[in-house]
Amino acid sequence: MGDGTKQAPCIMCARVTAHHVLARQDRSDDDVRDVYYFLACAGCGAVSMADIWNAGGQDEAAYYPSPISRKPPEWLWKLRFLFGDSERPLGELLHEIYEAVQGKQNRLALMGIRAFFEQLMIAKVGDQGTFNANLNKFLEEGFIAKIQLTAIKHILESGHAAIHRGYKPVEHDLSTALNILEAITETIYFHEQEAKEVAARVPPRGSVVKSEGSLPPHLTRPTFPNPS
Ligand SMILES: [Zn+2]
Repeated sequence: MGDGTKQAPCIMCARVTAHHVLARQDRSDDDVRDVYYFLACAGCGAVSMADIWNAGGQDEAAYYPSPISRKPPEWLWKLRFLFGDSERPLGELLHEIYEAVQGKQNRLALMGIRAFFEQLMIAKVGDQGTFNANLNKFLEEGFIAKIQLTAIKHILESGHAAIHRGYKPVEHDLSTALNILEAITETIYFHEQEAKEVAARVPPRGSVVKSEGSLPPHLTRPTFPNPS
């Protein structure tokens, strides 16, 4: 591949993509070939920089910002900027968790995930005094299903081990914890809102929606008033 395009990791696409070379700065000397590239992802347009050098062996590369293995959820900015005072700190914390994930600071990320669950539960059901009491109340009030309770307990336990017992989570465990955190947060803050919007568009029982294509009266089912 020539200098017109280069393969490089894109932080927005979260994978290696073709990049257009916007500018090139050669800092090579007699011993080391060292070239800096200013790049734009050919897919999404995100701009980054690459330093590619070779001191006699294989090419080596550093990228700025650092490549990411996991993309933050698309709703993260909404949690940071569109919700009220009790949710904004959750958005800020999740943003920092992703910064830690990107920097491969797995222990910090896991501690952050534990703190996130604690704050999420307190925001929704108030502080019941202990982690377990918060978790039980969270379940009782229907924010999570029983099957998620066990998963959260495992995450909280691994977060506790990271804080107190020097446990270093592998990337896969961290990814599982993030999947669970994202699924629960999305259900609570976004699916509920979306469901309300759907409900607002559905005509109440007993009302008839007239349209040009509606069936003649003898072919439609009778409607009854809502018994509630
Ligand atoms: Zn991209």
